[in-house]
Amino acid sequence: MLEVRNPATGAVIAALAADTADTIAAKVQAARQAQPAWAALPLAERKARLAALGEGLKASLEELAATLTSEVGKPLQQSRNELNGTLARLAFFLEHVDAAVAPETVLSEAGLEERITQEPLGVIANISAWNYPIFVGSNVYFPALMTGSAVLYKPSEYATLTGLAIQKLAVAAGIPAEVFPVIVGGGDVGQLLLEQPLDGFFFTGSYGTGKHINQQVAGHLPKVQLELGGKDPAYVTDDVADPAAVAAGLADGAFYNAGQSCCAVERIYVHTRVYDAFVDAFLKEVAAFKVGDPTAEGTYIGPLTRRAQLDVLDDQVADAVARGATLRAGGKRIEGPGAFYAPTVLTEVDHSMKVMRDESFGPIIGIQRVQDDAEAARLMNDTAYGLTAAVYSATRDRAEAILRDVRTGTAYWNCCDRVSPRLPWSGRGHSGVGLTLSHYGIKAFLHPRAWHLRG
Ligand code: NAD
Repeated sequence: MLEVRNPATGAVIAALAADTADTIAAKVQAARQAQPAWAALPLAERKARLAALGEGLKASLEELAATLTSEVGKPLQQSRNELNGTLARLAFFLEHVDAAVAPETVLSEAGLEERITQEPLGVIANISAWNYPIFVGSNVYFPALMTGSAVLYKPSEYATLTGLAIQKLAVAAGIPAEVFPVIVGGGDVGQLLLEQPLDGFFFTGSYGTGKHINQQVAGHLPKVQLELGGKDPAYVTDDVADPAAVAAGLADGAFYNAGQSCCAVERIYVHTRVYDAFVDAFLKEVAAFKVGDPTAEGTYIGPLTRRAQLDVLDDQVADAVARGATLRAGGKRIEGPGAFYAPTVLTEVDHSMKVMRDESFGPIIGIQRVQDDAEAARLMNDTAYGLTAAVYSATRDRAEAILRDVRTGTAYWNCCDRVSPRLPWSGRGHSGVGLTLSHYGIKAFLHPRAWHLRG
């Protein structure tokens, strides 16, 4: 049985039957049988059904946003934003899939044609996180289904009601339940899925689980993609015209979704010449955040989705303060049945502290003073992760010169915590392997087949 709790109240809101080894095997077998017929449909037909799913999502947007907020605690407006963003991603895939699957003739001469066709991977698993459950799930199941694969979708145990609601809309839109089954359960159920000889494992979640999955499935030699965590840095140079505006942007990048974003800003470095003005403005921004009931309009910070993360944050604060950091805001839980943590700002931090090294995944940030660009670049690279990095500067050349040497999948100049369907989303180092989104994120679900045709 999987119990679903509302993190804002602690109340149990659902109890769901979890999958077992037998039900998983049956779903895999049904998917294997149904996938060839799904792949044999004309692309236009599969696109039409995905587009109909989009219409269903749009029509149920308020209901889905309420479900999402009830199980992950995301403020209602941020749930709506995620759904609207998902529709934009679907539109991108619908527009670009034809080009991605188009066959290519790469040589045509007397008696010989060399040709590439694009084939679906087959039957794949989509093991997914809870923080943006619709984004990270649909980055996989939209393009995979569109290009003819079957997807065993395992939503996070913290976002299963949302996963089930979306699958119901998919079936209503004409996507066969057999090619898009939901696997219900926690890590133990995910583990059972790893025993299946599937054609691909597409995972979004923590480094630890991703590494484990990679090792477990290696024997079948499936395609493996891992979209993992980050410790994303931002650097504010001394030529920014308006440190207060930069502080507002970075406070949003650090605290949106209570900091539970893979690309949330997790460390800030500020040039000593603008440090004081920046920190003052940043603290004002944070003090103005409305924290509380995620269903109340205007709430900006809701509860943490996983209660256990409160311990991680307490530990990071205690460690930082013990090593000489100054606590400028928050630093403690908010009493009550919900898993709330006060937005927390630490200054006088350094890299001996966990808050500057380990993923926090909560409403907490360390701000460190630096003397020059070289020191900032060195500190930004002082991590095993490599998801995103941001530089704020009046000069694009200066920002690009610094970012060129920072090892990440995504680089931001004068922005942060931003994902575009048109750009590939990927990590370096412990932030993962493979990618989603962009036209590359459609090809990720295709196997290019070589044809040597003589005659
Ligand atoms: P998690 O690793 O705890 O769980 C992710 C999924 O893996 C869940 O569905 C879980 O049930 C499943 N799982 C757990 N143990 C398993 C096992 N042994 N075998 C198979 N499946 C198993 O991560 P989470 O807490 O859901 O997500 C938070 C993490 O995800 C953060 O580190 C965050 O940065 C990362 N994330 C990354 C991206 C990205 O695009 N790079 C996006 C969102 C979240």
